Amino acid sequence: LLEVSPHRVNRACPIGKRCGGCNFWHMDYEEELRLKGQRVRDAISRIGGVDPGEVTVLPGTMEGYRNKAQFPVGASDFGQPVAGFYMARSHEILPVQRCRIQDPRADEAKTAVMEWMELENISAYDEGSQRGLVRHIYVRTASVGTLVCIVANGGAPEVADTLLQLLQAAVPDLVGLVWNINRRPGNSVLGDRFETLWGQGCGLKFRLSPRSFFQVNRQQAQRLYDTALELAQLDANTTALDLYCGTGTITLCMARKAGKVYGVEIIDAAIADAWENAKRNGIDNVEFFCADAGQAAERFAREGIAPQVIMVDPPRKGLSPAVVDAMAQMAPERIVYVSCDPATLARDLARFSERGYDARTAVAVDMFPRTAHVETVVLLSKLNAKQHIEVELNLDELDL
Ligand code: SAH
Repeated sequence: LLEVSPHRVNRACPIGKRCGGCNFWHMDYEEELRLKGQRVRDAISRIGGVDPGEVTVLPGTMEGYRNKAQFPVGASDFGQPVAGFYMARSHEILPVQRCRIQDPRADEAKTAVMEWMELENISAYDEGSQRGLVRHIYVRTASVGTLVCIVANGGAPEVADTLLQLLQAAVPDLVGLVWNINRRPGNSVLGDRFETLWGQGCGLKFRLSPRSFFQVNRQQAQRLYDTALELAQLDANTTALDLYCGTGTITLCMARKAGKVYGVEIIDAAIADAWENAKRNGIDNVEFFCADAGQAAERFAREGIAPQVIMVDPPRKGLSPAVVDAMAQMAPERIVYVSCDPATLARDLARFSERGYDARTAVAVDMFPRTAHVETVVLLSKLNAKQHIEVELNLDELDL
C-alpha cells in the first residue's frame, strides 16, 4: 500500500479479502456508488456509443440484504465438516461464521446444520472422490420465514428429525425443510429431485421454488421494479411482453397497469410459480410461456403480436442478435432493458440503435452493495418515423 486512499475504511470484514464475494468491503459507500455510476456511464458511452449523462445510482442497505445463501459443504483437513464460501477462483472452501451481506438467519441455519452433521456423524461431500453426503446448504429468507434446503449426494438419512429440531431452535421462523438430491458431479448446485421433509415449501405472497430465479435483495428489487415500471409508461390499452420473466415478478407488476401482459421464461418451475403467483394475487390479464426468449420473440413477431412495450431482464450474457432482431421486428414503442452487466447492456444498446431504438434514460440500482455488481435499467424509444425521413443519395449527386 503506497498511499492510503481517503475512501479506505477499516470496517474490515474478516473474510473480505479471501472469499471473493465483496470487492468493495474496504471502501466507503459513497465512493462505491460513484464508481458504479461511472462504470455504467463508461460502458454505455464507450461500448454503446451514446452518452447517458450522469447516471443516478439508487443506494441500498449495506448489510444483511441478501435473501438467498448457498454454502458449499466439505471436510476440513481433520475430517470435520465445514461450510462457507469458495475462495476466489477456486473450489477450496473458506469456512465462514458470519457473512455481513447475508440475512443473519442464513448463518444461524448453517451453524445448526454443521452441529447436526457432527452430532450424527453425517459425511460431507468430497468433489474429488464424489463421495460423502451433504454438498450444499441452501437458505432462502423472507419476512414471513426461512426455508432451508439441504443438497445431498443421496437421500435423507433417518436422523433428519434431529436436524429439524436443531434448525427450529436456531431459526425460530423456519417454515420449511427440503431435501434435494444432486448426484451429478460439476458446478450446478441443485439437483432435480426435491423432497419436503417438513413444512410447506413456503407461505409467501410470491411462491418460489428453489430452482426459480428471484432477486436476492428484496428491498432494492422493489425499487428496480418501480423504476422499470415507471419507464414502461403503461396504461389500460397497452399490451406488454416480459422476456426472461422468472417467477413473473415484473410481469405481474405490469399487469396491474397494462391491458395484457405476456411472460416468457425458460425454467419450467419458474413458470409454474408465475402462474401460481398470478392466481394468488388475483391477476388474470397475464399469460406465461415456458420457452427460450429468442424463439418466443421470433414466434410472436411471426404471428404479428405487436406489444407496445417490451421488458427484458436477461442473464449476464445479455441478448443474442436474434432476440434483438425479433424484438425490433415487433416494433414496440418502448423497450425497457433491465441488466445486471453494464458491458453486455452497452453492446446490446448499440445493436438496438442500429435498428432505430435510442437509449433515453439510464438509472442504476445498487442491488449488491459491497460487491462489484450493479444493476441498470434503460429506456429505449423508437425514433419517431414522422419526425425522420429517409433520403437515398446517388453518389453522382454528392457534388451538388
Ligand atoms: N425478471 C425476473 C427474472 C430475471 S433473471 C425477476 O426480476 O425476478 C433472468 C431469467 O431469465 C431467469 O429466470 C432465467 O431462468 C431466465 N432465462 C435464462 N435464459 C433464458 C432464455 N434463453 N430464455 C428465456 N428465459 C431465460
